[in-house]
Amino acid sequence: MTTTTTTKQPPHVLVFPYPALGHTLPLLDLTHQLSLHNLTITILTTPKNLPTVSPLLSTHPQIHTLVLPFPSHPLIPAGVENVKELGNSGNLAIIAASTKLSEPITLWFKSHTNPPVAIISDFFLGWTQHLAQHLNIRGFAFYPSAAFFAGILNYCWGNLESVKVLDVVDFVDLPRSPSFKEEHLPSVFRKYRESDPDCQLVKDSLVANKLSYGFIFNSFESLEGEYLGFLKREFGHERVYAVGPINLLGPESTDRGNPVTDSSGNVFKWLDGCPDESVLYVCFGSQKLLNKKQMEALADGLEKSMVRFIWVVKTGTAQQVEDGYGVVPDGFDERLAGRGLVIRGWAPQVKILSHRAVGWFLSHCGWNSMLEGIVAGAMILAWPMEADQFIDARLLVEELGAGVGACEGTATVPDSEELAKVIGESMSEKGAGVKMKAKELRRKALEAVKEGGSSLNDLNGLIEELCKLKIQ
Ligand code: UDP
Repeated sequence: MTTTTTTKQPPHVLVFPYPALGHTLPLLDLTHQLSLHNLTITILTTPKNLPTVSPLLSTHPQIHTLVLPFPSHPLIPAGVENVKELGNSGNLAIIAASTKLSEPITLWFKSHTNPPVAIISDFFLGWTQHLAQHLNIRGFAFYPSAAFFAGILNYCWGNLESVKVLDVVDFVDLPRSPSFKEEHLPSVFRKYRESDPDCQLVKDSLVANKLSYGFIFNSFESLEGEYLGFLKREFGHERVYAVGPINLLGPESTDRGNPVTDSSGNVFKWLDGCPDESVLYVCFGSQKLLNKKQMEALADGLEKSMVRFIWVVKTGTAQQVEDGYGVVPDGFDERLAGRGLVIRGWAPQVKILSHRAVGWFLSHCGWNSMLEGIVAGAMILAWPMEADQFIDARLLVEELGAGVGACEGTATVPDSEELAKVIGESMSEKGAGVKMKAKELRRKALEAVKEGGSSLNDLNGLIEELCKLKIQ
């Protein structure tokens, strides 16, 4: 087993991101930090995911890569290696397929002259905790999500039989004993079917995280200290590191490893011409495509709200476009020109949010988006849809009072009048109290990553822990 003797050589750590952008980007931000602290790092990726890693490799040419072929799976079309091409429902197959990487990783490890002493892997790849034990190295689970969410998910798996028959689940063990409707539980749990072998692999993988030696969260103490404390008690040790917002720990990383499109120049030119805090930014993450009716209702709501906005519309496949997914109603851009801007495809979200003209964010409450909104001091109008988003929205809107509800549900078509009203009120004097709390949260987030702040302390604690490890 690993020991705690200090070594002279910097420790070698294998980093294994999960192939979904919301998971990969924050783990790459953490890797950037580890690399700045002189650790030897290998990143495990697959050929089609390599471009996401490339910007980090350019910044840190000393980082090694382990590029393994993406394992085949009957439900994943050839050439697809990332959840962004499948949507949230693709997670089961991608997690199941990933488990086939155990053997090639073992072979690589055994043939390495300086094999890693630890593996830091995304919690969706919890099966790597078994691998870490097998290889006699330490496993660290990385959560690009909330500690609150981890507490809920652990409870769900730990009480599978009772939870799966309930319409409303009371999480009595958790701080504040929250209740969630079945449809608001984590998607990865809701999709579980006992008879499906993929689901078994996913369940085993997620449950195996409890074997981790340490847990790393892209979160911070003053955002959810109660839940971080709860997890420490649950795990029975203090190796729970809240190092978020991770992208703020280092030098500015606004594009988060993704190309800035040509149209971005126009976006910033347009924003420069807008008054301070006058623009609503609308984006639902890297995976979600709204259906035709949702697109129409949202377009209508934005038009009726009379506010300035930027709307990021993810583009779908030819078939999805034909079915109306992600299609902006005809004439919308032209009619709203000057007041609103539609970005099709990928937007430099962090950079847009940090522009002085942006003050509000209609978001699905993916954890990264939420953190990015918080950091920007934007007031979030929450439209949680799936995954961990209902839990994130609960934390923000109900517990912290720093956001408002706008809509909920993955297929819900909002009433455009109501949506326009929520937007209009949030951006008027009526929203001032919540907006103030959002700004207070921004202050706390910035504090956490400063010298002496909780996240920087936790990062240092993590690095110290890694530096103590040596291979046996
Ligand atoms: N993102 C971006 N541009 C886009 C869409 C998404 O930069 O056009 C980034 C966003 O800043 C965030 C991540 O992609 O860092 C999405 O992660 P999140 O957890 O918010 O949602 P998910 O995509 O996992 O649903």
